[in-house]
Order: sequence, then C-alpha cells, then structure tokens
Amino acid sequence: MILVFGSLNMDLALSVERLPKPGETVLGPSYVLTPGGKGANQAVAAARAGAETRMIGTVGDDEFGRMALNALQRQGVDTSGIIKGAKPTGCAAILVSPQAENQIGVASGANLETLAASVPNDRLGPGTTLLMQMEVPENEIWALARHAKSRGARVVLNLAPVRPVPPASLKDLDVLICNEHEAASLATSLGAPPGRDPTQVIGALAKGLGLTFIVTLGARGAMAATPTERWLVDALQIKPVDTTGAGDAFCGAFTAALDRRTPIQGALERANVAGALACMALGAQEALPRRQTIEERLLSSPRAFKSA
Ligand code: ADP
Repeated sequence: MILVFGSLNMDLALSVERLPKPGETVLGPSYVLTPGGKGANQAVAAARAGAETRMIGTVGDDEFGRMALNALQRQGVDTSGIIKGAKPTGCAAILVSPQAENQIGVASGANLETLAASVPNDRLGPGTTLLMQMEVPENEIWALARHAKSRGARVVLNLAPVRPVPPASLKDLDVLICNEHEAASLATSLGAPPGRDPTQVIGALAKGLGLTFIVTLGARGAMAATPTERWLVDALQIKPVDTTGAGDAFCGAFTAALDRRTPIQGALERANVAGALACMALGAQEALPRRQTIEERLLSSPRAFKSA
C-alpha cells in the first residue's frame, strides 16, 4: 500500500505565446483549471499505475478543496486521511509556452497545516511505501520519515521543490528522487564542489548512505544509483505537449512498481514510460497514464542498462 503525505492544490494553467519577463504581460487564448499539487498528482499517478493508494494532506473548507478531493476519489485514492484546515486550499498559477516550457507560482495555503502526527500508526508498517515531496512543512517530512522508517515502512522522497536535507534525515530514506537541478543543488548543499558531475556525487551518496538515488534527466531519460549498481534508461522519443506532470508521473509509477516489489531496473523503465506519456497532454493529473498503458508502451520502449 502506498501512503502519500503531501500537497493538494488547484492548478490554473494558461497556454501563452511565450513566458513573460518580470513586469511583462503576455496573452493566451484560454486556461484550464485542474487538480494538482505534487502530493495529489503523485497519489493519482500511483493509483493509475495500479497501486492501492491513500493520501494524507490538508485542504481548505472551500470549492477548490472539494474539487481537489473529488478528483482523488474519482481515481480511487483513499482520502479519509485528508483534513480540512483553516487556510484556503493551495493554488498554483502555471504558464506554458508553445515549446512546452513552464513557469509556476504556488500559494501553499492549507498545505502548510499538514502534520506528521495526523498519520495513524496503523497506516505505517512493513507493508507501507511512504511517498513524500517538499510542498508540506519540511520538519513534518523529516519527522514522518524517521517514524515511518522505525516502523518498517519504505520511505521514498521526491526532493521537489528542492531544499537542503538534514544529513541525519538522509539515513531515513530508502529512495530519493530528484531532477537534474535538484540533484545538483542537493550535492552542493552536502558539500560537493559546485560544478562537479552530479552523477558521481549521486553514486557516492547512494553507497555512503545505503539508499537508492534516482535522477530524472528530462528528454534524456533517467538514472538510478543503488549502493552497488548504476542503471540508465534513455527517454522515449516523443513530441511533448506539456511537461508539467512528468516528474510526478515518474515518481508515482516508480513507487507503485516498488510497492509491488519490482526490481529497480523494471521500476525505472516503467517510471520512464509514465513520465514520457504524461508529457503528451495538458494538465497534471488527467495526463497520468494507467498501468495497462504503461505496460503496453513498455514493450516498445528503451530498456534500462547497467553503467559503470
Ligand atoms: P521534472 O518534471 O521533475 O523536472 P523531468 O523533466 O526530469 O522531471 O521528467 C521526469 C521524467 O519524465 C524523465 O526522467 C523522463 O522519463 C520523462 N520525460 C520528461 N520530459 C521528457 C521528454 N521531453 N521526452 C521523453 N520523456 C520525458
């Protein structure tokens, strides 16, 4: 069972002719209002990828909150652990260019009220894979990672948006997922000289801390370093429409595979397929692929290979 501890937002996404500079206004023909938040997106990604998924988080007592909850329930995510807070539901403003680049501002709102203590102990055990991101208060994340680990759960952290990780908390993680920028920033915050190849830092970290370190490489695929091996997978050849949900699709599908005890190579390949498929449609959650689609596409997709 996957337990997602994280954020729920409503996303207001506008396709614009180009991304604006500071102080500039750009026009676009329309917008879409869709459920988002890295926590909710990854919960939907995991559920669609075939995992039994529960979410812990906080929404406001408002229309956006009801929309966010309904969206999760429609995808079969158990929302009984989601609380109504005092602040309004989180909200993201997303601008997307014709080249599928994006610019995002997020108002955290009720997500800031999310507490590790609201996760019941009976939801944390050896059968649980805990999946977290960095859009809820970080002290709660580190506290829950420690508690979950001590109860025998697997702990997966997507370090997005990036923030420094206390070295002691790194030991509580089983899997750390970053994109290239996040990996570089983490490496620097842990004392690696700036500009050093983050893939080397990642290999050393995986070995030193006994965790699996995944780095997503956008249109170049992804890599994984375990304490003993390194795996690479090339990206699928696609024409992206909107890359907003790619990282979330990757994390959800990877964790769903991990929860089914799929070996690292297979989990990486499935996540890589899910990430690519999520780039093919506008919006964060609607574009997330289902398990059957991932498995079918996997047959004609790049395989992961071991690297030195
Ligand atoms: P984030 O969205 O968190 O920055 P990435 O851009 O690295 O993450 O994308 C996550 C994953 O999605 C990649 O590792 C890859 O598997 C897939 N992906 C992203 N962009 C593309 C693309 N243009 N073509 C094919 N796959 C992609």
